[in-house]
Amino acid sequence: MQKSLTKTLVFQLQPDESGQQLLADAFLEARRVYNETIRRAKNGEDWDEIRQDLESDADLVNNTAQLVVQKSLEAMENYYEYDDYNQPSHTKDGAYPLRSNYEEGYNLFLEDDCIRYRASTKPYNTVKGTLSGSPDSLEQLRHAIQSDAWRVGTAEAMRRNKNYELHINITHTKAKVREKEESRTVVGADINEDCVALAALHEEDIIDSVVIDYPEIKGKRHRYFTMRKRTQNVGKSSFDRMFERKEERFVHDRLHKVSRQVVEWVSRFEKPVIVFEDLKGMRDSIDYGTRMNCRLHSLPFRKLREFITYKAAFQGIPSDKINPKYTSQACSLTDCEHTTRVNRNKKRFKCVECGRQDHADRNAAINIAKKGLGKLNRNVPALKTLPNVRKMRRQASGCVNQPTVTHGTARSHHADGIVGVSD
Ligand SMILES: [Zn+2]
Repeated sequence: MQKSLTKTLVFQLQPDESGQQLLADAFLEARRVYNETIRRAKNGEDWDEIRQDLESDADLVNNTAQLVVQKSLEAMENYYEYDDYNQPSHTKDGAYPLRSNYEEGYNLFLEDDCIRYRASTKPYNTVKGTLSGSPDSLEQLRHAIQSDAWRVGTAEAMRRNKNYELHINITHTKAKVREKEESRTVVGADINEDCVALAALHEEDIIDSVVIDYPEIKGKRHRYFTMRKRTQNVGKSSFDRMFERKEERFVHDRLHKVSRQVVEWVSRFEKPVIVFEDLKGMRDSIDYGTRMNCRLHSLPFRKLREFITYKAAFQGIPSDKINPKYTSQACSLTDCEHTTRVNRNKKRFKCVECGRQDHADRNAAINIAKKGLGKLNRNVPALKTLPNVRKMRRQASGCVNQPTVTHGTARSHHADGIVGVSD
């Protein structure tokens, strides 16, 4: 079994005042429908009945009402299937995203210099305007509308950072991603501000691990940040803006390269799946300490995860996510697994119980992979020894391994023979 490759593109709607009002009203109605669906589902009521009632009763266009109810029930399903945390709430208020199908709830029109949209909110009401977004996203959407290789799918309208946004899914008509349940190697990925650590495990043992450093991304961001702060009082000159664009391009390019390295490394293993930490919804609920907060706010985390997921998918490699609780504090050796914040001091992990030392992010990557195996209901191997920490840095001549390799058992497998594309 394989799944299609889907990508989400983000645009700003920039509606006029009446459009904003229409959207705001519809978001609240969607929240009411969501809450009611969840409340009744928790109550043990029949899901078909809930569907029928709410779809006919909602003050939303039909298609949107259906999709909102469906999404609410999916949230319940996910909760039952995977999570023992984050039970969906039915008492939240505020806006809830509107989901709709292409050419039903929303439509797009290509013009020479822009893409226009029309979105239905409540019955007989539509919001119209021009999509704005990054040149990259606009280009991809334009391509998807015209080309046979991509299909435009459902979209979600939502309010985020004071903007009205439309998140449009596009699906590749040929590329297929393997079901994660059919994976053999689980690669835990621990993404940080200055490096990503990877650890490949299967049911019998740890196979290999690596740390890919990118200190220049952190350095660059800090430098521009201080510079920007200094000039904030004077207002932004075109000079500042030029530096910002330069910084953005630099970080973007580097993250693309790093994500390529990651996928290259991962694709050597037999039927891999990449596992990330699920940081969604963690911010308000539980205090995971400053490390987590830093990571939530750091740009590389989200972008790099997105790039890796996307590039991996093009090679047929699926991704998954796990609950991040204690991944950075637990000793990854099976006989120990001692968990305390004190184990970690910046990049150094030293277990206060068994005394083992490790690169802190590599240790976390192993824990992520262990959780990933567990989530797939696989045997988690008994880890007695771990391979030495290997680092990979990018140099002028390309990618080099630093000469610290001692664990030479990288069993080479090529991922399903699918030829990848560069971006
Ligand atoms: Zn230990």
